[in-house]
Amino acid sequence: MSLAAYAAHERESRGRRHAEPAPSYRSEYQRDRDRIVHSTAFRRLVYKTQVFVNHEGDLYRTRLTHSLEVAQIARTIARALELNEVLSEAICLAHDLGHTPFGHAGQDALNECMAGYGGFEHNLQSLRVVDDLEERYAEFDGLNLTFECREGILKHCSRSNAVHLGELGERFIKHRQPGLEAQLANFADEIAYNNHDVDDGIRAGLITVEDLTEVALFGEYHAEVVRQYPQLASRRLVYEIVRRMINRLVTDLIDASATRLRASGVRSSAEVRSLAAPLIGFSDTTRELHLGLQRFLRERVYRHYKVKRMTSKARRVVAALFEAFFEDPGLMPEEYGASAARLEQAQGKAGRARAVADYIAGMTDRYAISEHRRLFDPSERT
Ligand code: MG
Repeated sequence: MSLAAYAAHERESRGRRHAEPAPSYRSEYQRDRDRIVHSTAFRRLVYKTQVFVNHEGDLYRTRLTHSLEVAQIARTIARALELNEVLSEAICLAHDLGHTPFGHAGQDALNECMAGYGGFEHNLQSLRVVDDLEERYAEFDGLNLTFECREGILKHCSRSNAVHLGELGERFIKHRQPGLEAQLANFADEIAYNNHDVDDGIRAGLITVEDLTEVALFGEYHAEVVRQYPQLASRRLVYEIVRRMINRLVTDLIDASATRLRASGVRSSAEVRSLAAPLIGFSDTTRELHLGLQRFLRERVYRHYKVKRMTSKARRVVAALFEAFFEDPGLMPEEYGASAARLEQAQGKAGRARAVADYIAGMTDRYAISEHRRLFDPSERT
């Protein structure tokens, strides 16, 4: 597989935080990917909500299946643009490791609880998982991933947090771009969730094919599929439309990015990083179509009363857990209680709060629900 000059080349890597001997038969980025797949946080993704809470049905996406879909979309794009396929795959597999239980509702609730203690950002938490929280190696905390992989995982970051992150935080302060593999991972994420949420939204009965025909991107392919297969049953109809939408978005992203890369004249990933604007992106027309789909989902799926009922329950569970554990860290399992004591000694109340947030963020949906029951239902065994 040939790599373009502006792709991530391992010989130019900024390396790992703790020096390690080079792997003998794998590449450095392969090692990153393998470490991510072996991590505890990765296995937990299977029981974390994407939009629909895991126990509501077996067929909805979870954070794990979402991450796999993102990774495979990213690999296609990386390969077509001669970028580093393994690195973009690793970034995608890790991008949601720091997500709380219950999707965005959980993250918002935890962020509110942490308001006085530095806040909670899920991207930053993903980085914290791979840098500090995974406990697998004798010589260091975390997974000791390469700079390029960590850079990709930290998709967003507030300025106030970026100042504490050294070279990894620099681009948020200087308004610079990450490498191309990180840029494309963002788009693969959006393409994946916008399309799978169409499928999950229909499955959950929140939206219908009929409703979706008002979305230009969906409507276009709906007409095409119906013309070609007038008798097609509705599930297959949806799949035929969704695969066309993904294909359109991926193809457009590849073509428009290739054009932009050529026009920019960049010759290395260092030049890519020195730019203020990203080079990976859709054409104007397709970006509008994609935004139209995103808007529809926001209004009709994420704000649907059934989704909101679940998210409001989730917020209360997270908030109640935080309050109880913050009040008395001794209610947490010993290792977390110990880490609360350690962090509190170093950073005061903010340290205690951080340890509680780490514990809650690491929970799966069902674990959070059972912890809530164990804490608040007197008839439950503890
Ligand atoms: Mg994602």
